[in-house]
Amino acid sequence: LSAVMAGVAFGAAAMMSPMISGGYAHAADKGYVGIAMPTKSSARWISDGNSMVEQFEAAGYKTDLQYAEDDIPNQLSQIENMIVKGVDVLVIAAIDGTTLSNALENAKAAGIKVFAYDRLIRESANVDYYSTFDNFKVGVQQATSLVDGLAAAGEPPYNVELFGGSPDDNNAYFFYNGAMSVLQPLIDSGDIVIKSGQMGMDKVGTLRWDGAVAQARMDNLLSAYYTDEQIDGVLSPYDGLSIGILSSLKGVGYGSGDMKMPVVSGQDAELPSVKSILAGEQYSTIFKDTRELARVTVSMVDDVLAGREPTINDTKTYDNGVKVVPSYLLEPVMVDKSNWKEILVGSGYYTEDEVK
Ligand code: BGC
Repeated sequence: LSAVMAGVAFGAAAMMSPMISGGYAHAADKGYVGIAMPTKSSARWISDGNSMVEQFEAAGYKTDLQYAEDDIPNQLSQIENMIVKGVDVLVIAAIDGTTLSNALENAKAAGIKVFAYDRLIRESANVDYYSTFDNFKVGVQQATSLVDGLAAAGEPPYNVELFGGSPDDNNAYFFYNGAMSVLQPLIDSGDIVIKSGQMGMDKVGTLRWDGAVAQARMDNLLSAYYTDEQIDGVLSPYDGLSIGILSSLKGVGYGSGDMKMPVVSGQDAELPSVKSILAGEQYSTIFKDTRELARVTVSMVDDVLAGREPTINDTKTYDNGVKVVPSYLLEPVMVDKSNWKEILVGSGYYTEDEVK
């Protein structure tokens, strides 16, 4: 409604000067998009936000991009504000995927379309579409590279510990289950030994994906289970956790003398981790091209607002507890010392100078 009124009031001016902007919607505006991102503490979300703003604006949309610094009430009030400001669409990467139901009811009542971005929004019927990566496959790739790294370093059995992501993030279960589809058979056969016995998301989850929490847990594991035996590998679902895990390992001497650095996985190809891979510390990461995720999301939004059917490629995987949300899944790519240049520099995601 506000866009229509603004169109009436400013239509003539907008036609004469299509570049008019600021404050008011004008005739050239295709819509107003609220973008709610979880935190700036991880570079990937900054890149997601920037790519979306750039691409939405290039396609003729006005945007409101907000970061909530991993504070749930903060994100809720940002979303409520966007609804009050009259957005046509909400694109949300939730901090806690289960706490948005009330806000989304208000969105629905206001006719706002809701797109879950990267992380599924759970327990709400008011989620129209979901764009993400194949999250189960991310876990498969993490575990596969972990196992490859272990095999390259020596003979089984291997001592391994497991880390999971934030238990309020639906993705964390997909990463963990994907990884366990590779690791469980090796645990069953005795090739991989989890000395702590800590398995399952309830035991290995890391609230808010917090690297300091992972570092503290790694400290505890090392002092409780690895004083007279070395650890060979760590399943880590996210670069920010890997950094914490690696500093714990380095703190007790891994990476020097006869204490070989364990094989540590990761995710997001964040710069500190890519540098760590080049330095021979972190073993691998998973690259998820946030520019592509933004592109897919912008085009889904554009289709929906124009009354077209958006392109989706999955209608069965992402049950949010109330409905199966139609999804578009992108392909993740494993990155290690052997292919970082081709994948990360070759795609233009980073320059070689940034990495080195
Ligand atoms: C994302 C990952 C990211 C993690 C921590 C997940 O929901 O899919 O790419 O590593 O959140 O930010």
